[in-house]
Amino acid sequence: MADYDTDLFVIGGGSGGVRAARIAGLHGARVMLAEEYRVGGTCVIRGCVPKKLLVYASRFAHAFDDAAGYGWTLGEPSFDWPTLIANKDREIARLEAAYTANLNRANVSILTTRAVLEDAHTVRLLADDRRVRAKHILIATGAWPGMGTGIAGIEHVISSNEAFHLTELPKRILIQGGGYIAVEFACIFAGLGSEVTLVYRGENILRGFDDDVRQHLRTEMERRGIRVICKRIVEAVEKVDHGLCVELSDHDDIVVDKVMFATGRRPNVAGLGLEAAGVRLNDKGAIEVDQFSRTSVPHIYAVGDVTDRLALTPIAIREGHAFADTVFGGKLTAVDHAYVPTAVFSEPEVGVIGLTETQAREQFHTVEIFKTTFRPMKTVFVGSEARMLMKLVVDGATDRVVGCHIVGPDAGEIIQALGVAIKMGATKADFDATVAVHPTVGEELVTMRTMTASYVREAAE
Ligand SMILES: Cc1cc2nc3c(=O)[nH]c(=O)nc-3n(C[C@H](O)[C@H](O)[C@H](O)COP(=O)(O)OP(=O)(O)OC[C@H]3O[C@@H](n4cnc5c(N)ncnc54)[C@H](O)[C@@H]3O)c2cc1C
Repeated sequence: MADYDTDLFVIGGGSGGVRAARIAGLHGARVMLAEEYRVGGTCVIRGCVPKKLLVYASRFAHAFDDAAGYGWTLGEPSFDWPTLIANKDREIARLEAAYTANLNRANVSILTTRAVLEDAHTVRLLADDRRVRAKHILIATGAWPGMGTGIAGIEHVISSNEAFHLTELPKRILIQGGGYIAVEFACIFAGLGSEVTLVYRGENILRGFDDDVRQHLRTEMERRGIRVICKRIVEAVEKVDHGLCVELSDHDDIVVDKVMFATGRRPNVAGLGLEAAGVRLNDKGAIEVDQFSRTSVPHIYAVGDVTDRLALTPIAIREGHAFADTVFGGKLTAVDHAYVPTAVFSEPEVGVIGLTETQAREQFHTVEIFKTTFRPMKTVFVGSEARMLMKLVVDGATDRVVGCHIVGPDAGEIIQALGVAIKMGATKADFDATVAVHPTVGEELVTMRTMTASYVREAAE
């Protein structure tokens, strides 16, 4: 023990690292944490939190429109991007201070520096070229936007990191990507008044989500004026008078003011010294870990996006907490990655848990689908054509609801609450036995009586 300067050295002060450091500290461990940028990591500084604040801002435009239908008379609303960004930055600074205070209360020593591994027990702090010997090391360095293979003009392209710091709202923006970050930013900018083009190389946006969700959201985004171009990629970006000219793979040119790539995030492992420490990567370039987040080196662990299991804040937090309980709390704890509810804060919002219809049909002998689309009362009243989608995927053999997919207002909030029941193994009969809350949109989930499709898997020859 005396050999080591600390019981635990955490590299990275984001969702996973902060939780792990704090809980290990509360378990009585001596903890040091290095953060090279700002405490709070992606989620707090340039991810979930600032993104959701922009989402809230972007939704006022529709609210103002709808208000007129409900009898309100408003002056001509105007929007000021610098005010939003300044207020967002103030909130982020407040949260960063709160995270720092929590770490201090748990006696975690915070070091503002990049840290790299020199060997399996030695961490080098680049700020002052100091070395620390640690009994245990936790790698929680997160992920970083991948910008592709270097097309011509890539220097003109921003990622989500820079999108949070633009000095002005672009009048026209082209976003490349089809994942949730691309879709969310497309809806944010469209809501705030930008002309938005979304370019995605695949068949349809939100790969990995249920096909009905993908098509429904795309239709609704297009209804709101977003131009969605699939099966194309950006081949070059050139600076021209009054903007950036984007060349697409079909040789179509689009002139915009900003180009943003949201084409996936890569585990943050470059230059970390993993080889020197003997830490192995998997075939996706992420740190290989077991169910307790232990790497190929027994006293080195890794949690969060750097392990590329489920890149979500609540997962990084759980993995960090479970690590601290396992190593310093005397309680072997693995994180269950099944039936994780999640949301896409697009407009309209998406909330999902469990299996897609395709996954269920691969996994179960009989699959029953209950699906409805309808115009929500609140917006149909003001003449909107916007539709909401609700879909339940049921294992026919057990009646268990194995998937729930919602697109529409408050889908994220609905799926959080419903997630408890589905995680517990609720059956379709349990849904039917639950009385509706009327009038709500959520009541549709317990009033879908008629099966819309049923599939029986053919026996393999
Ligand atoms: C735009 C955007 C929106 C998102 N929205 C959501 C959402 O709505 N819901 C959700 O659940 N998730 C969301 N996420 C994902 C979420 O932010 C991540 O899953 C989560 O932050 C992962 O936590 P982590 O601890 O693994 O890494 P991070 O939070 O990324 O923290 C890693 C930290 O390590 C630091 N670091 C890296 N290398 C070193 C080093 N060598 N030395 C010192 N410090 C280092 C980094 O500066 C960073 O602060 C979003 C992400 C983005 C980019």
